[in-house]
Amino acid sequence: MEQNDFPEFNSNHFNLPRRIQRLSDLAYNLWWTWNMEAVRLYRILDPHLWEATDHNPVRFLSLISKERLSAATKDRYYLDAFDRVIKKFDHYLEAGDETWFAQSHPEKLNHPIAYFSTEFGLHETLPFYAGGLGVLSGDYLKEASDLGFPLVAIGFLYTEGYFKQRITEDGWQEAIYTSLQFSDLPVLEVLDDDGDPVKIEVQFPDRSMSMRIWKVQVGRVPLYLLDTNVEENDPADRALTSRLYSSDLELRISQEIILGIGGVRAIRQLGYNPSVWHLNEGHSAFMAFERLRELVSSGKTFEDALTEVRACTAFTTHTPVPAGNDEFPLWLIDKYFNLFWEKLGLDRDEFIDLARQQHPWGEVFSMTVLAMKMSGRRNGVSEMHGQVARKMWSFLWPDRPEEQIPITHITNGIHTSSWLSRRLKRLFDRYFDPGWEDHLDDPQIWRSIERIPDKELWTVRRHDKRKLVAYMRERARKLLNEEHVHPVQVVASGVLLDPYALTIGFARRFATYKRANLILRDTERLLDLINQPGTPVQIIFAGKAHPADEPGKRLIQEVYRAVKNPKFTGRLVFLEDYDINLARHLVQGVDVWLNTPRRPKEASGTSGQKAALNGAVNFSVLDGWWREGYNGHNGWIIGDDEAWEDESAQDEADAASLYEILETKIVPLYYERAADNIPYEWLGWVKESIATLAPRFSMRRMIKEYADKIYLPSINEFEKTSS
Ligand SMILES: *Cc1c(COP(=O)(O)O)cnc(C)c1O
Repeated sequence: MEQNDFPEFNSNHFNLPRRIQRLSDLAYNLWWTWNMEAVRLYRILDPHLWEATDHNPVRFLSLISKERLSAATKDRYYLDAFDRVIKKFDHYLEAGDETWFAQSHPEKLNHPIAYFSTEFGLHETLPFYAGGLGVLSGDYLKEASDLGFPLVAIGFLYTEGYFKQRITEDGWQEAIYTSLQFSDLPVLEVLDDDGDPVKIEVQFPDRSMSMRIWKVQVGRVPLYLLDTNVEENDPADRALTSRLYSSDLELRISQEIILGIGGVRAIRQLGYNPSVWHLNEGHSAFMAFERLRELVSSGKTFEDALTEVRACTAFTTHTPVPAGNDEFPLWLIDKYFNLFWEKLGLDRDEFIDLARQQHPWGEVFSMTVLAMKMSGRRNGVSEMHGQVARKMWSFLWPDRPEEQIPITHITNGIHTSSWLSRRLKRLFDRYFDPGWEDHLDDPQIWRSIERIPDKELWTVRRHDKRKLVAYMRERARKLLNEEHVHPVQVVASGVLLDPYALTIGFARRFATYKRANLILRDTERLLDLINQPGTPVQIIFAGKAHPADEPGKRLIQEVYRAVKNPKFTGRLVFLEDYDINLARHLVQGVDVWLNTPRRPKEASGTSGQKAALNGAVNFSVLDGWWREGYNGHNGWIIGDDEAWEDESAQDEADAASLYEILETKIVPLYYERAADNIPYEWLGWVKESIATLAPRFSMRRMIKEYADKIYLPSINEFEKTSS
């Protein structure tokens, strides 16, 4: 089968009028998600339906009325916009050799890079992500597409996606799972030349597992998703790929076998021969076993095979937190791999050695250790996380001093056009040099922010905040109409918010180390801050806890109980069901982005980068990316650059610092207004924040670093070993 052809589908199965039929091509390529003119083509056809279908063009096109479509074909204004978008779309797809990668490294274009991840957060309609890791992988694919990287991605098609979150009146998180309708989503099953599904098999100890492959087209980059829900599998196996991150270890190891080993098979079946294999987090590290097996069965010794595999494998570790570093008990490895080590020419002990980690309580098989040992290039996701990772994994290189542990870092970034508010982009288009988006990782471009009159910037900021408040009210209205919802929950969801008050956002996964409750530590002090006449402050919380994370769920409950406290007069808010859509509204609408991780656990964090891009100012612990981004004039820090031994002393000191800076710096600055009611000084901070952070923490800067530090050296090595 051809590498890059679209799986076949009836290109007019929506029965669209011929003149605008290509709306359906557009629907099946996620390019539209980061091109706001394309989004607009759908939205203006029927704004209500667009919201009601959760911005899903496939569902939208299957439901929209004939009348509206036919009216559009007679509307010159619509047709002009349509033609412009289609022309841009076609040009984008055809102009692969004008891209950064093609121009800088033309001789490397025929070296595919395989990118493996358990989650991909591309858009709210594809709930195949749990949090930051997924959103990062999604942004990565979009930028890889923009820059023309020869990248192909592998993940799971979760048939139920990640859960939808409901909060009970008492603040307890409920997880709701629903089966996704694939015919309603921009995913297509991969078919062979005869129109039959392409299938691959993976051998389990007692049975063979079959899976099919789905494809999501992300601009120029294909994302292939594995799915075990096929007839020939037994019912339990069919459900294996239904949900993300099961806490059942047996399920989990099965999923990781499917992703790692099945992923390599899928890549082969689709006709790729990658020169680089990138493990985005250790979940997919079994991939190395399959490639070792291929080489050993072709006659190589295990040592030679390992050298070859390492040369073209890269590993990015994303967190020092134990829950993010999978490990399995040895009995599970015995159960699932007892027929496998022979195929590599190893005995059990040698095999386990590849991933052995010694804990005080015993030995485990660590996916992170495996990934470290199987890859020739390794990195953490911020400067500080690089240090932490070198320390954490130094036992793997016992004869090296810590600073020579071979783990480097590449700091995370975000895909600019996916996160930038529409209004703000228009402002940039007006005041930046033409073509600025082609150089958005260039700090010089962003200095043009000084050209924007404060008044215009303030108008856009206010507009985006009102938009956030309106969005929350609409959600609250729907909630009120639901059964089993107490009116206080409607208040908790933000109906009393004031679109003109200083608004702080705190949205992220509710893991305990992120300390969502830090700002609640001193209720009296917080009440005082929030309810000052004339300088009100409001705080919006959002986030999910992993369904098995009881402390995380208790944290949500603690926040929710504060939110319901009438003394806070509706100025504390908890928004249910944090996802990409809600994240977009929040980072574009709030004034301050709060981030309170317990140092040094936040490896990078990216939500603050999204907020900064949109003119919110960061207020954060010096952890992860912020330790590199903060310059004294572009935001504020909580605490200092010290390491703490005692967690509760750290919490106490950080909380004190948090209140003090809010009271003495942030709130006064925000409310310091000139006669025209514009906070000029505040806007100075906003501009400094955008100018210094947007280029540096862009996915563009980041992925170019991956090319330079990881991919190109790997490709060079691949060329040497294979010649
Ligand atoms: C950006 C984003 C994240 C990651 O945020 P952190 O700063 O890493 O906590 C998580 N979830 C969603 C939906 C996001 O958009």
